[in-house]
Amino acid sequence: MSRFAVRRLSCSLLCLSLLSSYCLAKDFGKVTGQKVAEGVYLFTTTPYGDAGLSGNSVAILSDEGVLVFDSNGTPETAATVLAEIRKLTDKPVRYLVNSHWHWDHWGGNQVYLAAFPGLQIITHEKTRELMLTVEPRWNEKGLKEDLPQFLDSFEKQIAAAKARNVPAERIKAAEERLAADRNFMAQKQSLHKTYPNVTFSGSMTLILGGREIQLLHAQAITTGDTYLYLPKEKVLVTGDILLSPYPFAIGGTYPAEWLGTLEKFAERAPAVILPGHGDAETNTDFLRGNIALFQDAIMQVKSAKAKGMTVDQTAEALAKQNSELAAKIGIKDAETADAFKAYFLDVFVKRAYRELESPLSDLPDGLPKQN
Ligand SMILES: [Zn+2]
Repeated sequence: MSRFAVRRLSCSLLCLSLLSSYCLAKDFGKVTGQKVAEGVYLFTTTPYGDAGLSGNSVAILSDEGVLVFDSNGTPETAATVLAEIRKLTDKPVRYLVNSHWHWDHWGGNQVYLAAFPGLQIITHEKTRELMLTVEPRWNEKGLKEDLPQFLDSFEKQIAAAKARNVPAERIKAAEERLAADRNFMAQKQSLHKTYPNVTFSGSMTLILGGREIQLLHAQAITTGDTYLYLPKEKVLVTGDILLSPYPFAIGGTYPAEWLGTLEKFAERAPAVILPGHGDAETNTDFLRGNIALFQDAIMQVKSAKAKGMTVDQTAEALAKQNSELAAKIGIKDAETADAFKAYFLDVFVKRAYRELESPLSDLPDGLPKQN
């Protein structure tokens, strides 16, 4: 996922009035590691608080060193993951791969480069360019204005709740959340952007400790996506081309090629799928659900356009089927279905429509103008 934004304003308000289990979750930014194949480990991270999610990180170990795929959203998370890797091996990290330019997948690059000065940080050539040119424009307002304003307002809400004698346990939960948000902002403000020093265009194969590691390019959620495949072990590391609980289309997607990439994933019949967010999948049901969703949405967009409907009419028509479309990937509750609409369906449908008219821009919809 990409946009650095305050997403859960309503949840913070909710914390002061309801004992919601989500709002009371204390382990913000907590890392969990899991062995998913011989020498392959997946690290997932709980949400940072109100302002974002870290992408997953994957470590591939060998006798000759380690490859890490994606470095999380903050240096702190990357340092935690690296500490876990050091418990598993005394070999150095030799390669760090960044799947795409969204901040939650390369925010910890500096940690790895500081620990391993000869490190090769690899990404697709277009991703490096987008990291340098688009990412600052995309996230600057969120970091400099939206998040500080949100924190001020949250603090005031807590003070007002105390004055109203809201029960202490609710106040405590809100304060823990505020502390997590403040820590996240401090992490983001102290980050030194560390860019990839190796790029590729089509594909790249690394042989590490006798293990073949393929890095492959796709134009799916961005123009420069990198995914990783271990052909012998049939482990597929997708970045955000596939993620749970729902796909994230904000950030410059290419609907038709995205679907084509998912279909290629299925053709490989992977034994293990490691998505950009969420848990490892050992069956392909989730992948197939995503393919069915994309096929249906794209087919409906084509048919609506053929009937002469405008892009807005098409988006409106698809939005009416939001719960049915969300159900194709197993979403049943209304809150997640709303997020599915905001972060996937609305954007995806519009880009799928425009893609039928002319080539899409690599830039995300809604990118702020350059100062
Ligand atoms: Zn992400």
